[in-house]
Amino acid sequence: MKFDVILWDMDGTLLDFKIAQKEAITQVFRTIHKPLTDDIIDLYSRINESYWKKLELGEVTRPELLTGRFRRLFEELGMNDVDVQSVRKEYEEVLGNVYEYIQDSLGLCKMLQPKCRQYIVTNGIADTQRRKIKLSGFRDCMTDCFISEEVGYEKPNKNYFDYVFSKIPDFDPERTLIVGDSLTSDIKGGALAGIKTCYFNPERKEITGDYKPDYEIEHLWDVLRILDFML
Ligand SMILES: [Mg+2]
Repeated sequence: MKFDVILWDMDGTLLDFKIAQKEAITQVFRTIHKPLTDDIIDLYSRINESYWKKLELGEVTRPELLTGRFRRLFEELGMNDVDVQSVRKEYEEVLGNVYEYIQDSLGLCKMLQPKCRQYIVTNGIADTQRRKIKLSGFRDCMTDCFISEEVGYEKPNKNYFDYVFSKIPDFDPERTLIVGDSLTSDIKGGALAGIKTCYFNPERKEITGDYKPDYEIEHLWDVLRILDFML
């Protein structure tokens, strides 16, 4: 095969993050006895994304993200009496327990297991992500998993990738591919770190920004074509 190490992003690439997020936010609103609408889910989603972008850019810290996103949501909704800390705890709990595969991603990783070493590279909370990796079955087909909270840096920071590379035996950048759905963390990070990048773009979004992916796929299994995988 053309590559023998694959770095997989998890949320939005192997697992459907939107479904897990919706489930978690639904549970939170059930607990605080407030009605939840699709508009509120969209609002939360936008706030959450903006906080993760700020974290990628180093504009907020991780603790600021974890509580700030909820403080901001409830401020915008005029619900100032909500206990943000307990909301945060419950949300993270549900997020680690709910998962939905994207395009039989688990089957794909299992098939690739004898052919190459696979690693999960994810920005997120260690406890939540570890639980999800275990429950979803990915732990058994991955050589290792690197969660930004444990690494101490987020994708696309080069320090994140330097750490990951230092943990991969016989690491060869020429034979390493990162696959992910984010141009700002996976593709930019991979490009800065000097490895080949594959943009998973099922919604065929326009490619913007300074870092263009080496490959683009609409379906996850198209990665087999890039790897020159032979059955
Ligand atoms: Mg992602």
